[in-house]
Amino acid sequence: MSLAERLGRVQDAIAAAAARSGRSADAVRLVAVTKTIPVETIAEAYTLGVRHFGENRVQEALPKIAALAERGIRPTWHLVGHLQTNKAAAALRSFDILEAVDSLRLAEALSRRSSGAPVRILLEVNVAGEPSKFGFRLDDPAQPFADVVAAIRALPGLVVEGLMTVAPVANDPETVRPVFRRLAELAATHGLAELSMGMTDDFPVAIEEGATIVRIGRAIFGERPPR
Ligand SMILES: *Cc1c(COP(=O)(O)O)cnc(C)c1O
Repeated sequence: MSLAERLGRVQDAIAAAAARSGRSADAVRLVAVTKTIPVETIAEAYTLGVRHFGENRVQEALPKIAALAERGIRPTWHLVGHLQTNKAAAALRSFDILEAVDSLRLAEALSRRSSGAPVRILLEVNVAGEPSKFGFRLDDPAQPFADVVAAIRALPGLVVEGLMTVAPVANDPETVRPVFRRLAELAATHGLAELSMGMTDDFPVAIEEGATIVRIGRAIFGERPPR
């Protein structure tokens, strides 16, 4: 199947799931996740109309973002992976939205380094409390999530647009529906509009539960080679 066909199928599936949740297809933004994908293929996706791309490692992304910009390709870049504080400045220069802010310390570093337009961020939540994952936990009595949200919202130079999560790996996406529902409830509690949830294996369920951003790699670009 060609890239155009795979992309078309994903867009159709997004529209169908949005309709099941009583929304139009434009209520859900597709972020094409391009980790390990070469610049040529990213340029092809851009030509097919994709305007939001995601990368999960700053070092890998910077040369790709620069090479595409040189060709006049300037989409909205989302950083979807963990950001180390010492790469905050580099990330701020190249990315438009930082989706995986996962500590108060990182948010403070971004706030200190921000200048000009406010930095758009999402807070990553480890809804299922998986030890292997980054993200704020909801079961930490020393750091209630409501306090974290308030503290980060009080930092100058940042705008907290919403929440992001990576659901546990599951054979049946239905088993992770409660994870998406919980993130949607949390976002509503805090009055946050953006909900980044859903990947290749589970995006229709995430959209049914209210996702406004889906981050999709393999369904668009095929299986990734090992790094
Ligand atoms: C790789 C990645 C994705 C996309 O995953 P696919 O299963 O290829 O759709 C989404 N979000 C994050 C944080 C990722 O690292």
